[in-house]
Amino acid sequence: MKIFRIFLFMLIIVVFSSCSTNKNAIVAHRGAWKTNNLPENSIAALRHAIDLKLPGSEFDVWRTADDSLVINHDAHYNKLIIEETKYADLSKFTLFNGEKLPTLREYILEGKKNNKYTTLVCEIKPSEISKERGKMTALKVFETVKKFNAEKMISYISFDYEILKQIREIDSKTSLQYLEGNKSPLEIKKDKITGVDYHYSVFKKHPEWIKEAKDNKITLNIWTVNDADVMDWIIDNKFDYITTNEPELLNQRIKNSF
Ligand code: MG
Repeated sequence: MKIFRIFLFMLIIVVFSSCSTNKNAIVAHRGAWKTNNLPENSIAALRHAIDLKLPGSEFDVWRTADDSLVINHDAHYNKLIIEETKYADLSKFTLFNGEKLPTLREYILEGKKNNKYTTLVCEIKPSEISKERGKMTALKVFETVKKFNAEKMISYISFDYEILKQIREIDSKTSLQYLEGNKSPLEIKKDKITGVDYHYSVFKKHPEWIKEAKDNKITLNIWTVNDADVMDWIIDNKFDYITTNEPELLNQRIKNSF
């Protein structure tokens, strides 16, 4: 009986420690939109990701001509170039579920409601006007996050390395992940960027970067993984985060891997 109790105690410790490593944590790409046919980057897609208790929900930020920060994937919205259009003109068009074009402020406020589990993964889009404008957008995003005391629930990602470096200049700790896939984990570590978030083809080409990241405590994130075979390969390699359009499928593959 005593041996059984010791065995049970050890089993609990093993199970607890494997749960607490937070590996293979799911990030919904542009929110959890697909299964319920919601608009990508909508408040509804963020809400569904939070309701699924996902570890992360990603979204994209642009700055309008009059300095509003809006959530949209493409550089244009209803054929209007966001960076060259005022917010009032953009917001005349609703998303297909009737929502208005969300702002960063609204996204953060929704993210703070009944949310214990979901990090908001904030992609700051590189400016198509100038590098300087992109860096200014980064500062305005950071100011907004700070204004609503949301620093702890936000992680920043960008294809523009200068945007990440700009945020690092004003915050020494926040999570920054680089998207482009053209720098090794050691290279980004020198600039105090904390993570790589690369397309899965980059890690297929550079499998040595997986170990290099782990050895150097660089966060490993990967996009956009929708195919079950690729999911299984990543689950085996124990990434910190996996970004997907198919969070429900990925959840199932993770469960199957135990
Ligand atoms: Mg994105």
